[in-house]
Amino acid sequence: MSDINDLLENKSGIAIDLDETLSWTIYYWMLEAQKIFGNPENLTPEAMARKYRYTGNVPYWEGQEFNKWRMGKILCNETQRNLPPIKGSIKGLNNLNKIIPIATYLSCRPQAVIKGTKDWLKANNYPDAPITLRPSSVKKQDEQKWKAKKLESLYPDIVGIVDDNPNFIKAVSSDFKGVIFLYDRQKSLNTNLNIISCKDWDTVVRKAKEYFRK
Ligand SMILES: [Mg+2]
Repeated sequence: MSDINDLLENKSGIAIDLDETLSWTIYYWMLEAQKIFGNPENLTPEAMARKYRYTGNVPYWEGQEFNKWRMGKILCNETQRNLPPIKGSIKGLNNLNKIIPIATYLSCRPQAVIKGTKDWLKANNYPDAPITLRPSSVKKQDEQKWKAKKLESLYPDIVGIVDDNPNFIKAVSSDFKGVIFLYDRQKSLNTNLNIISCKDWDTVVRKAKEYFRK
């Protein structure tokens, strides 16, 4: 199998996160879990995502059965195919691709779901690009560290990333010279990294245009 470095030969571009940057994964997970494990507060999946952020934080779902379901979901290709795209992300990413090529999709999803991920990107008309997922040799608890190291190792062929996760940003070395477009976060993080906060996909495109054309 080709290594990402071979695929990127002579090409410079940007990396793109998947969950909560392109796909509204948490919405779909809340929706599915409500059907199986109940919704005693009678919340919409959206309200539940706002209140608890992750399915693992919903207090009345805790337990072995739920954990088993969750592990199955993480490894399920069909789940990836069913995720709703985030509003504005399809048009936004295609526009971003004209400013700076999408060099790779970079995500902590396990390598086992590469097929479903690929199908989902294609079905929703996201730009075609290599997909880099977490190898099975990397434990889930080390996933952000793995992703940060991957991004750092690809610089300067890859000049940065669009990502939503502050925990990932915390894992990036303070020496990293690339740019991070922080999707959907207004909160400023205490870091020396070059972070550009973007409240939506229109803002990602607008700020990328300013950044890469200056
Ligand atoms: Mg994410």
